[in-house]
Amino acid sequence: KTLGKDLFPPLPACRPVLYCIIAYKGSLEKVCEWRSPDQLKELLDLELRDGGESDSKILQRCRDAIRYSVKTTHPRFFNQLYAGMEPYSMVASFIAEALKPSLYTYEIAPVFTLIEDAVLRKMMELIGWEEGGDGIFNAGGSMSNMYAMNLARYNHSPDIKEFGLSAAPRLVMFTSQECHYSVSKAAALLGIGTKNVYVVPSDKRGKMILSALENKIKAAKSEGAFPFMVNATAGTTVLGAFDPIEEIADICEKHNLWLHVDACWGGAALMSKKHKHLLKGIHRANSVAWNPHKMLMACLQCCAFLVRDKTSLQLCHSSGASYLFQQDKFYDISYDTGDKSLQCSRKADAFKFWLMWKALGSIARHYAYFMPEFSNVCFWYIPPSLKNLPDGPELYEKLHTVAPVIKERMMKTGSMMVGYQPHGDKPNFFRMIVISPQVSKQDMDFVLDEIHRLGKDL
Ligand SMILES: *Cc1c(COP(=O)(O)O)cnc(C)c1O
Repeated sequence: KTLGKDLFPPLPACRPVLYCIIAYKGSLEKVCEWRSPDQLKELLDLELRDGGESDSKILQRCRDAIRYSVKTTHPRFFNQLYAGMEPYSMVASFIAEALKPSLYTYEIAPVFTLIEDAVLRKMMELIGWEEGGDGIFNAGGSMSNMYAMNLARYNHSPDIKEFGLSAAPRLVMFTSQECHYSVSKAAALLGIGTKNVYVVPSDKRGKMILSALENKIKAAKSEGAFPFMVNATAGTTVLGAFDPIEEIADICEKHNLWLHVDACWGGAALMSKKHKHLLKGIHRANSVAWNPHKMLMACLQCCAFLVRDKTSLQLCHSSGASYLFQQDKFYDISYDTGDKSLQCSRKADAFKFWLMWKALGSIARHYAYFMPEFSNVCFWYIPPSLKNLPDGPELYEKLHTVAPVIKERMMKTGSMMVGYQPHGDKPNFFRMIVISPQVSKQDMDFVLDEIHRLGKDL
């Protein structure tokens, strides 16, 4: 209410927002209110018509939108690599949406341009880049990985910017089998080609095998290809594994390869004295992707791409649009950061991280649960009917069908959400992500009891 007066003229338009917050708080009983797409289409009456509707009708529509959405901030939502609600970040989101800034120029976003710079600088400090670097908040970790691949390639063959792929030899990059799928997407989009992403095997815990990396680099060279980059993952999506960054950095140095660390998930550990050893060596990376909207609980989206070299973002991406980035402006145009970006309009995402950081300080965060390596907990539920089956293909085959049925039942009950998947030769298992400090021991017990309740007849 207090902030509202500064943000909006006192128009009825802001009322739905306030009502939404109230309705939202009141709706936190079920995690989801599952409906099939056809049912939901009918319930929501999606068609857009010539005439407008009354405020009360609109309010009902807001309520429906809330009711049938998944409550990812509910303490029993364990389905994704983000969860929970950080209230300061949420306030920042509302303010940023209401002010509607776009971060291409200082002229349009003076406050948020400076905030972004301050946040990036602090993140670089945590990474350990003593001489600083450069960076940009963008629309997702997948984008950050794409930025990294584009910069790494530009670093190897700068002529590509002007002459396209005809200016490049066959370039090959390396990543572990556990890496995020955005790496192969970016390879396809950038014209690197998915077959030129050499997949390095991981060990049982999901970490890249160093000797295998060396072998793949040698193999690529012997084929006459040009290795240009290694992507190391700090916190893999499924198992939460950390590739050995320090050792990978040695290999990159030896072969003169760009080292990108995809720390979208695991970057949060840099804020913990106890756990930052997981990312040992990250200061040697050329670039880093880190999503504060995941474990640090900033509101979606909040994703930073950081690069140690101070000029390459600008050199690689600038196109110098003269209607936006005039060189004869009356202020210091180094604050017009938009030309480093692939997007034109860009949200004030750093603000969501900055405000909570201001409120909580650097040392306030404690992880709810840190399992053996990270907070991915992967497990099978073995129903009583399978208890006595010996370990082997028959058990695996039957087990494979258990998690999907339990998932269907939990969604239809709406009691909680936990993801599942297969992995390598392992049949479907649950992957439970525990991030939010709002999760209590009772919630954890509830999950196990509820899985048993939903699946004991299978
Ligand atoms: C989540 C994640 C990404 C993708 O981030 P988005 O913001 O969802 O695009 C990339 N890499 C890893 C390791 C991730 O966990």
